[in-house]
Amino acid sequence: MNQRGILTVISGFSGAGKGTLIRELLSRYPQRYALSVSATTRSPRPGEENGREYFFVTKEEFEKRIRDGGLIEYAQYVENYYGTPKDYVDEQLEAGKDVILEIEVQGALKVKEKFPDTLLLFVTPPGAAELENRLRGRGTESEEVILNRLRQASREASFMDRYDYILVNDKLEVCAEELHALISSQRLRMSANAAFITQMKKELERYCM
Ligand code: 5GP
Repeated sequence: MNQRGILTVISGFSGAGKGTLIRELLSRYPQRYALSVSATTRSPRPGEENGREYFFVTKEEFEKRIRDGGLIEYAQYVENYYGTPKDYVDEQLEAGKDVILEIEVQGALKVKEKFPDTLLLFVTPPGAAELENRLRGRGTESEEVILNRLRQASREASFMDRYDYILVNDKLEVCAEELHALISSQRLRMSANAAFITQMKKELERYCM
């Protein structure tokens, strides 16, 4: 039976290593997962490509997508818009792929409200000092942007307990396997197997006649 895919939202402080973690998951299980590429109005960082990390669009284009209903959710984060295109996610879930959204907390909670079966995962480094180190280690952002992201992290921390599970990203390989295990267990939930359960009950009815 072709089961519909599981929708998973991964959030976490900027600098927690979500991107690396997700790349690791996809390289371990390429047939299993599909990563949604978001649209954003922020400028590309060095090395980023349109259509790979994000679809980089203007504010006007983004607002048109909102009006046309083309986004599952969107949010403003550090003065830019970010949003999840609807069509790709629907297609991949329908094809049985487990879809990953890497989005911030406001968007994550909106997705959970719309689709209550969504698995919400929060990724954190082992501590705040490590978070600051990782942000500085990137070497691509100004001091002001780094401080902004740390302040944002402090605000986001207050939402952590609204998530289903926490992933402490200390050792990448361990964290990637924990992530895979959590999503796999979601596939076994009764609510994700309604069609199978109905079929099983029907087949068993024969024995009661
Ligand atoms: P960055 O600029 O570092 O790539 O991303 C900033 C934040 O925006 C991150 O927390 C990232 O998870 C979030 N983000 C990326 N895409 C989306 C999206 O489509 N929707 C929402 N709500 N947040 C997103």
